Amino acid sequence: MKILIVEDEPKTGDYLKQGLVEAGFSVDLLRDGTDGLHHALTESFDLAILDVMLPGLDGWGILGGIRRAGKDMPVLFLTARDAVDDRVKGLELGADDYLVKPFAFSELLARVRTLLRRGAKTTGAEFLRVADLELDLLRRRVTRAGKRIDLTAKEFALLELLLRRQGEVLPRSLIASQVWDMNFDSDTNVIEVAVRRLRAKVDDSFEPKLIRTVRGMGYVLENPLCA
Ligand code: CA
Repeated sequence: MKILIVEDEPKTGDYLKQGLVEAGFSVDLLRDGTDGLHHALTESFDLAILDVMLPGLDGWGILGGIRRAGKDMPVLFLTARDAVDDRVKGLELGADDYLVKPFAFSELLARVRTLLRRGAKTTGAEFLRVADLELDLLRRRVTRAGKRIDLTAKEFALLELLLRRQGEVLPRSLIASQVWDMNFDSDTNVIEVAVRRLRAKVDDSFEPKLIRTVRGMGYVLENPLCA
């Protein structure tokens, strides 16, 4: 699941991003309100976490822009200001939740999960499935043929990407940028190793094999019985 953070304070932004990535989410962090709104409208996110006071455009402005564009992703506000007025204004504008700084990361994570669960219920996007493989996006759990499979956060993100785009050949460069946040040139070996490990866990002791290498192109996940 993909989360957008717009926060201009470097420490808070980096801390949030790191924590959420470690929890298995894919995160884009922006520092400026105008860029943040543009990103919210051009990319697809399951949740936005917005600071109120931002350069460019404030958090209210971003929220207004998101809602005017008809996007109903949940929005969580972060702010140092805890005035009742702000809270009311945020909720009136269509914010889903409000967290006052400073906050414990565990509390943020709990709110994030609640909002994602609520969002997933309306879109039905709580699980991703192919054949007998199932990803539980909120609990970050994977099962195949009913058996629990333990994946690292990166393996989970990789499998989620392959599943979301099943049937599509994903080039290594795309996998590198989406899962590792890095350029193709950095180290493609990282991807090969990760795919091998992922296959060992989700494919080796099961049939049919779901992840396939397309030589010279990349990787594809599909149910060969339906392809
Ligand atoms: Ca700020």
